[in-house]
Amino acid sequence: MNIFNNKIAIVTGAASGIGQSLAEELCSRGTHVVLTDWKEKQVCSVSDAIPATCGSAAPVCLDVTDFEAYKKVVDDTVEKHGRIDYLFNNAGIAVGGEARDVSIDDWRNVLNVNLNGVVHGVAAAYPVMVKQGFGHILNTASIEGLVAFPGNASYVASKHAVVGLSNALRVEGKDLGVKVSAVCPGHIKTAIFNDSKMVNIERKKVLEYVAKVPGITPAQCAKEILKGVEKNKALIVVTALAKILYALQRISPSLIMKIMLHDIKHLRDARISN
Ligand code: NAD
Repeated sequence: MNIFNNKIAIVTGAASGIGQSLAEELCSRGTHVVLTDWKEKQVCSVSDAIPATCGSAAPVCLDVTDFEAYKKVVDDTVEKHGRIDYLFNNAGIAVGGEARDVSIDDWRNVLNVNLNGVVHGVAAAYPVMVKQGFGHILNTASIEGLVAFPGNASYVASKHAVVGLSNALRVEGKDLGVKVSAVCPGHIKTAIFNDSKMVNIERKKVLEYVAKVPGITPAQCAKEILKGVEKNKALIVVTALAKILYALQRISPSLIMKIMLHDIKHLRDARISN
């Protein structure tokens, strides 16, 4: 059974990577998707390229750090379609670098997009879904929301917060008919590594290291996420390595700490100045 057919979904950060693939995959399954991103031109061209064979695609320019704008997108969607079935809070950014080097503005930017962006989506759509008595919110965290990697503490903080928020909301929403899941991908081959700001670390060395980590395409990731949605999983962990790391974190946090202390050597090798 195709549970996505004729459903209404909003996807944030849909101009590239995982968000783009989610929008494409949903549309191919008959969902009417509102694609949002702060990159207006890109989100329009992604939306235009989606074939109108099954569902439909409509682009909207949205910066998730703007709550009023986010609420308007949710309200407009409900006004047009009468309901909202899925909200994919997917937009995210990262700033690479050790905590001793990144500025307070870097911390604020990451927390603002990755955490406040999700909070804004929840504050705008969750009450609507409670009123409807149905709906599913998918908050994209990361394996870094379950395991603390060194080298981007602001990202780790934001993604751990998204997992906690999602777990709490899942309990609150259960008897009200609203489902909530946290999506925790491992390495997905997207533009995020090229586009991210990096502070006092050589991008080339970081990219070389990332390239060695087994990863999957955003299209494969989108399919895995939708499998998790079908099963209404609380945590949708994507990639084999991410599943292993999460299992290790639960079995032996001290072993994970040892792995991370080894991992930090790559970060130190990539430092520009000490
Ligand atoms: P991406 O850079 O390809 O896509 C992110 C999208 O979010 C971009 O289109 C960007 O324009 C948009 N965006 C950024 N800030 C925004 C804002 N303020 N308002 C609206 N849109 C904004 O990256 P991706 O890898 O597809 O990342 C998608 C999500 O998956 C992110 O939350 C990221 O943290 C998470 N994630 C990615 C990976 C990975 O390995 N790629 C792993 C785990 C989690």
